[in-house]
Amino acid sequence: MIQLTAADVRLGARARDKEEAIRAAGGVLVERGYIAPGYVDSMLGREAQANTYLGSGIAIPHGMGADRGLILRTGVCVVQFPDGVEWSPGRTVKLVVGIAARSDEHLGVLAALTDVLDDPGVAARLAVTRDPAEIVAGLTRGGGGAPAEAAETLAGAVHVDVALPPGPGLHARPATWLVDVASGFASEIRVRHGGREANARALASLLRLGAPGGATLRILAAGPDAEAALAALREAVEGGLGEEEAHEPAGRGLAWTPVSEGRAVDGVAASPGVAVGPLFQLRATRIEVEDVPGDGPEAELRRLAAAAEAAREQLGTLFEEVRERSGRGEAMIFRAHQALLADEELHAEVAARVRAGHGAAWAWQQTVGRRVAEVAGVEDERLAARAADLHDVGQRVLGALLGTRRGAPRFPDEPVVLVADDLAPSDTARLDPRRILGLCTASGGPTSHTAIIARSLAIPAVVGAGPAVLEAAGGAACILDGTGGRLYLEPSAADLESARGFQAELSGRRDRELGTRYQPALLTDGHRVEVAANIGTAAEAAAAVEAGAEGVGLMRTEFLFLGRDAAPTEDEQFAAYTEMTRALGGLPLIIRTLDIGGDKVLPYLAMPHEDNPFLGVRGIRLCLRRPELFVPQLRAIYRAAATGPVRIMFPMVATLEDLRAAREAAEAVRAELGAAPVEIGIMIEVPSAVLIADALAREVDFFSVGTNDLTQYVLAIDRMHPTLGAQVDGLHPAVLRMIDMTVRAADGAGKWVGVCGGVAGDPLGALILTGLGVAELSMDLPSIAPVKAELRGCSLARARALARRALACATADEVRALPLA
Ligand code: PEP
Ligand code: MG
Repeated sequence: MIQLTAADVRLGARARDKEEAIRAAGGVLVERGYIAPGYVDSMLGREAQANTYLGSGIAIPHGMGADRGLILRTGVCVVQFPDGVEWSPGRTVKLVVGIAARSDEHLGVLAALTDVLDDPGVAARLAVTRDPAEIVAGLTRGGGGAPAEAAETLAGAVHVDVALPPGPGLHARPATWLVDVASGFASEIRVRHGGREANARALASLLRLGAPGGATLRILAAGPDAEAALAALREAVEGGLGEEEAHEPAGRGLAWTPVSEGRAVDGVAASPGVAVGPLFQLRATRIEVEDVPGDGPEAELRRLAAAAEAAREQLGTLFEEVRERSGRGEAMIFRAHQALLADEELHAEVAARVRAGHGAAWAWQQTVGRRVAEVAGVEDERLAARAADLHDVGQRVLGALLGTRRGAPRFPDEPVVLVADDLAPSDTARLDPRRILGLCTASGGPTSHTAIIARSLAIPAVVGAGPAVLEAAGGAACILDGTGGRLYLEPSAADLESARGFQAELSGRRDRELGTRYQPALLTDGHRVEVAANIGTAAEAAAAVEAGAEGVGLMRTEFLFLGRDAAPTEDEQFAAYTEMTRALGGLPLIIRTLDIGGDKVLPYLAMPHEDNPFLGVRGIRLCLRRPELFVPQLRAIYRAAATGPVRIMFPMVATLEDLRAAREAAEAVRAELGAAPVEIGIMIEVPSAVLIADALAREVDFFSVGTNDLTQYVLAIDRMHPTLGAQVDGLHPAVLRMIDMTVRAADGAGKWVGVCGGVAGDPLGALILTGLGVAELSMDLPSIAPVKAELRGCSLARARALARRALACATADEVRALPLA
């Protein structure tokens, strides 16, 4: 039982509005050492979702369950506002009781509060008293109050009995949740426990039931929507009313909040996690080149050719190394570097300079330097970013030519948090995560190769932090928050300790999650969600099984087509697909037909220029126009289907006509081969497909929602956009409502829905999607273990309640701030 003391009380405060009043109460809780400052935002977030007005001019603001980690110790404070604060229209609050409750030690104060409510005279006196002791006495007397005897039976009521989950019982947070659900219905609703009865819409009334964890509640409802109200309330109570103790919060639970205010530089979150260590400023050294003609043009050109060949080999080795460690997608950058190196025009220009009497190194540096400047100046920001790649290649050749690594950055031996203007992709790829704890660049965006490679190496990273970060002193301890996108300079000892504690907590959690990766994602009430993998190569199929996947929900076949001079043949594809079915050993494999176009181009496919390639000949539209690509792929898939459970999926279907044409092409191939039919599904990633999902559902076996594209098309933001990219949030309610429509349409036709876009691998997203009725979640390999663990801690009822709330939100931020994530 906690002790409310005079030190917890503030008298004679003033606030212009509710937010200011809650901030004042939060400030007292911080000052008293009960909470970290971040919990104040959580209190405001809670209030935005449910009003904590109690009655008789008293409100009890408190934070969200998911943010309990920000509570340092349980405590209560009282801030008196004698002039009153408007809490909601017509409700003025004079006593704000701020609550920070780790468990149930504060229930005594709450019970005493309900006593005060019974006696308006006491509440009025406490609202103006000048003596903190009077408030302490008023709020700690006896406690519990007289039980509210069960009133007469509600006329015409239906009822349901439901048990509270074990735990601290019906205290402020769960009771607020219950009020919130009850308020969505028109019926009169009462809750009974132990001979007492409460109005389900009155927080104080519910609190005084004193219902402990595990207690059975009888919920009665009378009115037009009584049955629906009972069903929703039962689901809410069984779902834990936001209090599932065993459940660690998703997504946001992985966030770290500093204990104290300090200097911080904001950037863009590029790779999640928290790094703590000394800051190291990496100053790139330029290779200085003098114009020495050497042994004449021919000898110089031979030296240059040998250097270019050495660079090409280095890039080949880098490609293999990175592919091995992080997958083909991440490694492709080095294939691109090889292509840049093979540019004949570039070499011809350099040769002309050498023949004019210049040294090879000088000629190379001048020519590449001019190209870099040209590329950096183009308007398309993504192309401009490629200047870094060209510069990187140029430096590599110079290094080989001069037999020096002078241009390569020298990394310190001690583990450090690296700060740099930007890093060349090849330097990022060589980073050793044991020595580079975190990475912060002044330039770059979240889609830069630096960001992608940092993610694949699991190095926390912040990019685009601006030039000011380059002024930060080296050697001093700093904290880099790659999840929140901030670099904290000169952190306090308390923050360093808290960040290290957070790291330990994170790694403990990762170990626990990995330990259970082979177990199915069974929700607490037995509902099962299939968790599958997104892969791009045959080798990744085995890695997917190792990572805990229950199949492959998306095989992006375009990776078989990228980084080559010609399309893979039918036999090459057949070999790749059968390698996958073998590795999967009977687990399902969904092969998506070629999804080229948009941001993915094949150099060997002459594709006419399009002003809006994302709205152009992409995905299935391309395949339908290129039977020479489509037919061999379909043949390879049908042949491979004899070796394991294979399904076909068409990307970018926008119309019924597209689907029918694709199905016809597949059927023609199947008939010609005499192969057995396979299940055929489509990606739902275009808004038109959602809107006609009922018609599409009748003609497919399944849907898989591609939230990456669906989000960009619904929000009209290019998913690769360098500055708007951060707003492409698949948890935007507009996207969630689209998924809800898709699931309903599929349900109507008896078909199942999966999700293979990024939202499926986000723990909060996975819960919401499950609540929306999605049956299969397919994601990148590292997300599999954490998502499975997240789902196992949740009940279907709770996931549904969460999904319902998410659908009712108006912004992605509101969805991300939902309690019980
Ligand atoms: C998607 O759009 O969500 C998806 C999974 O496909 P891709 O990312 O390959 O376009
Ligand atoms: Mg897509």
